[in-house]
Amino acid sequence: MIEHSERSGGCLCGAIRYRLMSEPYDAGYCHCRMCQLTTGAPAVVFATVPRADFLLENGELTCRRSSNIGERWFCGECGTPIAMVVDYAPDEIDFTVVTLDDSIDLPPAFHIWRESRVGWFDTIDALPRHERARPETAARMESRHPAHAD
Ligand SMILES: [Zn+2]
Ligand SMILES: [Zn+2]
Repeated sequence: MIEHSERSGGCLCGAIRYRLMSEPYDAGYCHCRMCQLTTGAPAVVFATVPRADFLLENGELTCRRSSNIGERWFCGECGTPIAMVVDYAPDEIDFTVVTLDDSIDLPPAFHIWRESRVGWFDTIDALPRHERARPETAARMESRHPAHAD
């Protein structure tokens, strides 16, 4: 296994460059409608690092609240979606895995929000498929947002 102490990534136009100071975890596909509309793609692969380990090295991320549970960060120049921060996990950041310079050894391990999956889009894998959030995530969302857990 390749040992990474740091990984780097950035946006299409090069204005945004970031560095990860620890190894990402929880890589997975999200098929939710907000990810689809934010990216124009049928699904997005996110992974997570502690927020303090996501270092913005160049540029300035534009932030937009995309739902009642979180905000999305993207390059204001070219629009590349870079990351998302959710209210129930303020100490973590979910970044878009394919914006890493090299993501070959960081494959997704699950699918979430399958209930809004595009019918013609599927992947050939045996990964766990969740209609909505993973059970552990749902519990965290519920504890933080009892009124509107989804
Ligand atoms: Zn850019
Ligand atoms: Zn999503």
